[in-house]
Amino acid sequence: MDYIKQKTPPVREDRLRACNAFGGTCCDLVGASRSGCLYGLKRAFAQTYTCQLGLSLAILNTLRDAVIIIHGPIGCGGSNIANAGLAKNLQRLRDPRARGLIWLSTNLTEIDAIRGGEDKLKEAIWYAEREFRPRAIIIVNSCVPALIGDDIDGLVEGLQKEVSATIVPVHCPGFKAKIMASAYDAVYHGALRNLVKAPAYYDRVLPDDLEELKEKYSRSRTVNLLNVSSMSRQDELELTRLLQALDLKVNLLPCYAHPDSFEDATEAALSVSICPTHDDYFIGHLQAKYGIPFILRTIPLGIKHTSAWLLDIARFFGLEKEAQQLIAEETRQLQEALAPYRQVLQGKRAFIGGGEIRVGATAALLQELGMEVLGLRIYHYDHFADEIYDELNGKETMVVNVATSQPFEQANLLAKLKPDIYLGHVGLNGWAAKQGIPVCPVYGVNNLYMGYAGMFEIARRLVRILKNPSFNRNLAAHTRLPYFAKWYQENPFAYIDNNVLTGNK
Ligand code: SF4
Repeated sequence: MDYIKQKTPPVREDRLRACNAFGGTCCDLVGASRSGCLYGLKRAFAQTYTCQLGLSLAILNTLRDAVIIIHGPIGCGGSNIANAGLAKNLQRLRDPRARGLIWLSTNLTEIDAIRGGEDKLKEAIWYAEREFRPRAIIIVNSCVPALIGDDIDGLVEGLQKEVSATIVPVHCPGFKAKIMASAYDAVYHGALRNLVKAPAYYDRVLPDDLEELKEKYSRSRTVNLLNVSSMSRQDELELTRLLQALDLKVNLLPCYAHPDSFEDATEAALSVSICPTHDDYFIGHLQAKYGIPFILRTIPLGIKHTSAWLLDIARFFGLEKEAQQLIAEETRQLQEALAPYRQVLQGKRAFIGGGEIRVGATAALLQELGMEVLGLRIYHYDHFADEIYDELNGKETMVVNVATSQPFEQANLLAKLKPDIYLGHVGLNGWAAKQGIPVCPVYGVNNLYMGYAGMFEIARRLVRILKNPSFNRNLAAHTRLPYFAKWYQENPFAYIDNNVLTGNK
């Protein structure tokens, strides 16, 4: 993989042939993925999609000591208003001196769309430099400048000599991608081109010494732990605890990191992803460019996936025996703690919505708790999830809906499946809650989900929610979703051209 010489990264539709329109069983999905049949599937009707700029901001807004310049009309990134307070609090959990989210907009108008927006961008960069003196200035490039052809990289190249902050263009115009996870690549592309630096040994040694020095670095026990914005500080602490139990050091990035953490990334012995959907672009390039190996397989949720994740890392450092002991002890304690919750959860029927990897691993976790998983709803699907989905019990009948947004399909599906509980991502939960289904978020910035401690917390929360579903029943009694009754009689995947669940087109 080497896209770094390009100014902009490819979108995931092209790079990974990812799919965002599918309705069928889990088994069919994996089969279609492995035979390459998912690419290019479409809907005959679609509600709106999510803009990749918004998801880029989910990472960028967390960076400490950085100013975000949204280069576009005032509406792009308007949702930042809702994030500002939260970003500050969460940054301060990592560094008490953090200033929180600072963002500017170039506020492009119709006149700018004709004359070009480069002057306004230049003015914004100077303002950010003078006013805030940040370590990094991130330029978030939206649809308008991408369409009118503002030469952002040319402008940055000229200005960088005069500005002390590192300027990082991130090209994420919403119109370019229907697979919104392309946002992750856009952010990492900007970081790889501007923040990541060659490791010190590149300049310091003669070529003959390079192998020896590389060996030294691989023995150094630092791991780049790639976090995601949908994990909490508690999640980070739990995973760090497990890695430190193996005597490993952790460099956490990209979320809530200081820009300097990207420089340190090239000194680590190993990069470890907690979500293949999130990180393959970054760690693939770190390996291709700087020879840093990576682990990219699953998310440490539940006993099975946390143990597999830990073992993969331990194997790299020759610490399998130590990891086995750690896993055995953690599992023993967890199983003891889970015993009273299992009785309540046994046989309860769940539906899960969110990102492909988190949803697949959450399904395995619920099955470990004795629950039945009726269906999954995921934003997009690519080959990274094949192994996880292929290993799910009941995959032959488990329904999967691949959809970015498209709540009408989920509403229909939930009306038919009638799960006891819905575990969902932000933006999906409200729809299920209004249908009277008890809801448990699959992530929250103040909640623990990952590792062994995370599984206990999930079980505890599920039991509490299932004990008293009256809030959602009352909600359903006093509200309704905006769909006609006849829609609920139809096939939920009637508008998807791959309808393998019922054979309808
Ligand atoms: S789709 Fe384009 S114009 Fe709309 S918010 Fe996203 S980047 Fe801005």
